[in-house]
Amino acid sequence: MLDLKYVIAHADEVKANCRNRCVAQDIIDEVDQIVRLDAERRELTQAVEEVRRRQNEIAQATSKEKNPDARARLVAEGRALKDSIADREASLKALEDDLKRRLARIPNRTHPDAPIGRTEEDSRELRRVGSIPTFTFPPKDHVELGKALDLIDFESAAKVSGHGFYFLKNDAVLLDLALQRFAIDLLIRKGYTPVVTPDLARNAILEGIGFAPRGPETQVYSIEDTDLSLVGTAEITLGGLHADDLLDEADLPIRYVGLSHCFRTEAGAAGRASKGLYRVHQFTKVEMFVFSTPETSDALHKELLAIEEEIFQALGIPYRVLDICTGDLGGPAARKFDLEAWMPGRGEGGEYGEITSTSDCWDYQSRRLNVRYRPIDKNQKPRFVHTLNGTAIAISRALIALMENHQTAHGAIVIPEPLRPYVGKDVIGPPA
Ligand code: AMP
Repeated sequence: MLDLKYVIAHADEVKANCRNRCVAQDIIDEVDQIVRLDAERRELTQAVEEVRRRQNEIAQATSKEKNPDARARLVAEGRALKDSIADREASLKALEDDLKRRLARIPNRTHPDAPIGRTEEDSRELRRVGSIPTFTFPPKDHVELGKALDLIDFESAAKVSGHGFYFLKNDAVLLDLALQRFAIDLLIRKGYTPVVTPDLARNAILEGIGFAPRGPETQVYSIEDTDLSLVGTAEITLGGLHADDLLDEADLPIRYVGLSHCFRTEAGAAGRASKGLYRVHQFTKVEMFVFSTPETSDALHKELLAIEEEIFQALGIPYRVLDICTGDLGGPAARKFDLEAWMPGRGEGGEYGEITSTSDCWDYQSRRLNVRYRPIDKNQKPRFVHTLNGTAIAISRALIALMENHQTAHGAIVIPEPLRPYVGKDVIGPPA
């Protein structure tokens, strides 16, 4: 959420930013509504304060007044004021809630270096890393490999849970666990605190992070008759971990690596590009999350990106890095970098597909979640932290890239070196 004072003082700039971020017109119109409501709110606040001042005057005058008639008049006025203040306070509360609800719809400010654009094609490609494999045989996609090697069972999952679910079997289970351990071990070595997070969170926390648990665009599974939803990412639970906390600057940055399942309705998403494990309703993810000062968040964002690259380089998976354009940033991110891995089975003869995403959300999430820090300089007031998140490994897509890039002519999959100690073998499937 943006700072209300900032929106009021920079309404035109906020609207221009909304246009750059391609949000719907009704969200852009909220800015004028916010300016109007804020003026109303100030008027109403003044009126309430005036009534309170008069109430105090009456209370003092009543205690001193000896004349019974005059005293009765004061008591009557006091009673009338009590009723009127209750009404005005209720109106003020409704107005403030309305203002907050509208403010929450406005997207974050944008990092000055983020490319301005509308569609995926407008994102800036920063680099390509690794060489795309050339096969001397027609490569299989992960669905064919998964079936042939008895690693993935989509049919039984469709029976049990529906389309968009899967059973991982045999060595795919070991690969899944190996990827988790590999990423977590690497991050522990880098000073990240490992956390297994809850898979459900309160709706207020989802909203604080920028997810809509209710409404038509929701991608969230909500649990009926509760205040809980299944998390779409551990970003939600890790961000919520310090909700309402006042941290110490000396303890920042705080770096977490979280493990959770992720649940997404993926309403409306279908088609060939979403085939197999690419777009599923449930997957496991190792997620990085950092609480920082405003001064260090830019450097930490680069750190998260560098870790994502280190992981995929270690796995021998070719990828490209995109600096995501304004139209694709979503609500909370000020800047976002995606890694897209080469997936030989995607499209006609291979395509890049998103495999990780790292966002610097500045103080957009922390303002809603009320995560602040006390500056080392005790003369300064507490400030909102900056929050950052990044995918270390999203298992289902990592499996696609790994299986498809490391397949052999014999229909086997060569396990990348760093995963071998965890899996306990070098190759899945028939030896060469
Ligand atoms: P996000 O939290 O949306 O930025 O996604 C983080 C990462 O999770 C993406 O880069 C993908 O690798 C993976 N991912 C997102 N949505 C899905 C999905 N529906 N199925 C499988 N993987 C996904």
